[in-house]
Amino acid sequence: MDLGFNGPKFTWSNQRGINSRIWKRLDRAMVNDKWLQDMPHTNITHLPSIFMQNGQWNLTKLNQLAPQNMVHKILSTQIQLQQEHSDQAVWTLSATGLFSVSSAWNSIRTTREETKINTYTWHKRIPFKCSFLLWSAIRGKLPTNERLASFGIEPGICYCCKSPGVDTIEHTFNTGTFAKKVWNYFAVSLGIQTDQLPLRNMIMRWWNTTHTNEAHKLILQSTPIFICWNLWKNRCSKKYGGKQSSIARVKFLVMLDTFKLLQIAFPYITWPLEWRRLYTLIENCFHDTKITIVQWNRPPDEWVKINTDGSALNNPGSIGAGGIIRNKNGELILAFATPLGEGTNNQAEVEATILGLSWCVNLRYNKVILEVDSQLRGSSLRTKTKKNMEPLYQMRASTHCYSTHSSQMYSHS
Ligand SMILES: [Zn+2]
Repeated sequence: MDLGFNGPKFTWSNQRGINSRIWKRLDRAMVNDKWLQDMPHTNITHLPSIFMQNGQWNLTKLNQLAPQNMVHKILSTQIQLQQEHSDQAVWTLSATGLFSVSSAWNSIRTTREETKINTYTWHKRIPFKCSFLLWSAIRGKLPTNERLASFGIEPGICYCCKSPGVDTIEHTFNTGTFAKKVWNYFAVSLGIQTDQLPLRNMIMRWWNTTHTNEAHKLILQSTPIFICWNLWKNRCSKKYGGKQSSIARVKFLVMLDTFKLLQIAFPYITWPLEWRRLYTLIENCFHDTKITIVQWNRPPDEWVKINTDGSALNNPGSIGAGGIIRNKNGELILAFATPLGEGTNNQAEVEATILGLSWCVNLRYNKVILEVDSQLRGSSLRTKTKKNMEPLYQMRASTHCYSTHSSQMYSHS
């Protein structure tokens, strides 16, 4: 909406003689209702056009009427009047001089903290509904009674505490006695301070805490999300489901969500379903990287060597295959990579070798060494490769000569 104005009606004139002078209101301030809500006392004053005289700034008038901190800025603005051209509006935030929403947005938004809030709110293994709840809470977009009050419904007491507070987002998620107890329980063991902070800052404190390993990182990220999720569930099951508000239940459900997340993220570690034992285990986790040096040996004269590999995102899941054919000098003859749809790990490995050997047949190589890194035995391949490939290749299913670079989290007890 247009903010309107006080003062003279026009802000521009063509500076011509009295008979051919044109006056216009060129400057407008447009805001949205949210902005007006936050800054209700805004008003726009058109200053009389006596600041320019004969192409120069009128310093006396400026000092009299313009805000003190702006005078210097105004004076340093070079104005060149071009009588022969008509005036044009120029949007200085874009290179073209034309208005664009994105350039306006870029100039007013605050980026860094926002970016961290956004990236940490979402995680591929944290349920969407939990992240979305936190996202809404931080932005004040939840139907608490306080908000419903603005539609004419009376604000109510909270649904969490024994001696009730008001049902607001800050109370339910942060400052209420109930919420504080839940946050404390989890924060203390992780060494996170729990003095009073607004919700957003408290969550940032968790997310700014330095982690010692990947599991630690994950629970620092996920616990605030699960706490908020279960505080909200607790409130809603009291409000709509008639259940009693219970700290023990909320603590347990946060624990359960965390447990499930860790089980999916680090399935090879046995996680306990108890907070104290869980974080003690996490403190003792370390990242173990195993590197095996591998070597590729050239094939003998007149032979080519083909190395193939299959991959599966999950087993079973999306699979793909890749391979490379090289000659006795180690020079590349052909390389391929292709998706194979859905299937198992072994299927991917076998498909990869079949594809590789098919290429060899097409290229008329008949002395081929096949080298794979999988555990598949020759027999498994022979039953699946095409008949005409049988005499073609010499199998070297050798784990020792292929890469295994694995990187996993281990618990240490
Ligand atoms: Zn409460």
